[in-house]
Amino acid sequence: MTRYTGLIDQYRSRLPFAPEVRAISLGEGRTPLIRLENIPKLVGFEGEIFVKFEGLNPTGSFKDRGMTSAVTQAVHEGSRAIICASTGNTSAAAAAFAARAGITAFVLIPEGKIALGKLAQAVVHGAVVVQIQGNFDDGMRLVKEVAETAPVTIVNSINPFRLQGQKTAAFEIAEALGRAPDYHCLPVGNAGNITAHWIGYSEVSGFTTGANTLPPELRNYSTAQIVSNRPKMVGYQAAGSAPFMRGGPVKDPETVATAIRIGDPQSWKQAWVVREESGGWFDECVDEEILKTQRFLAEREGVFCEPASAASLCGALRDIKAGKIAQGSTVVCTLTGNGLKDPDIIVKGGLQGLIQVPAERAAVEKALLDRLA
Ligand SMILES: *Cc1c(COP(=O)(O)O)cnc(C)c1O
Repeated sequence: MTRYTGLIDQYRSRLPFAPEVRAISLGEGRTPLIRLENIPKLVGFEGEIFVKFEGLNPTGSFKDRGMTSAVTQAVHEGSRAIICASTGNTSAAAAAFAARAGITAFVLIPEGKIALGKLAQAVVHGAVVVQIQGNFDDGMRLVKEVAETAPVTIVNSINPFRLQGQKTAAFEIAEALGRAPDYHCLPVGNAGNITAHWIGYSEVSGFTTGANTLPPELRNYSTAQIVSNRPKMVGYQAAGSAPFMRGGPVKDPETVATAIRIGDPQSWKQAWVVREESGGWFDECVDEEILKTQRFLAEREGVFCEPASAASLCGALRDIKAGKIAQGSTVVCTLTGNGLKDPDIIVKGGLQGLIQVPAERAAVEKALLDRLA
């Protein structure tokens, strides 16, 4: 048996890293592809729905895939510090991988609109946390400005090494299914992840894609054809933060799905290439439906994802009902982050099922029997 040591070692021949480049890894990747057993029956869907639970990465989101890759390259180039703007998960991942590498992480986060678990992660890993009086888009602008002169490497998804790491999720799905799914649904914030998945699916099926952000001279990896099809890529934004649906940047994005509270996506152009090449589409989900889906998935399948992640399944179930996603097809939904990062949202929604009783046997028995009746 060989020990799994993270996705760079696993896929090095298909990543822009020479054999001698030291991987900065926390064992990210190899997340479970869980087949939903109950929800398809409940909604009358005869195909298969799988969720790729990226919340089981080391820092609890898919950002680890991009961060192992971006930090490995940064360290290889001799960088001593990384910087990012973040709605939470990027800062958590940047902080952890910087700690691992022994370099400094600067993270810019929006005031107030970040899940507490994510803030705690950035702090505990020793990042320099700069809280700005603005939103993610302000933070992104500032990071670009500061990095023009300061000796820091940007590790937001505009760093092409991020998408290279993130494309490996598509490799894992293709390997697990023996083919690509018919539809792949994701929540969309900066639109880096949907682009990365398309790069990955294209590589394992022997295609090239116009959405690849890596400079051509670095694309020296093999594109061994493993499967023969590519999915339709479907991206869902939160209704209060849906620039793709409005046809232009949204100035003051608002949504409970804070991880996708982004009004001016950095990978706008690439994402529309993905839509075009894959024959997929974009749509939006309202907060109330997103939160309902988060609970539905947790209650019916035992999988607890964060609100932004639930947007993928939320949109997929609606598009199944509408017939846009064909009966009998295979659907993969990416669950981008772990629900444990943001327990507040559940507590705020009401603690159904919580019964308060005196510390007495009779009271506890009654509580049980009432519910078993
Ligand atoms: C970053 C993030 C997203 C959005 O991904 P993009 O690549 O920015 O589109 C969605 N969900 C979660 C939990 C995230 O952390």
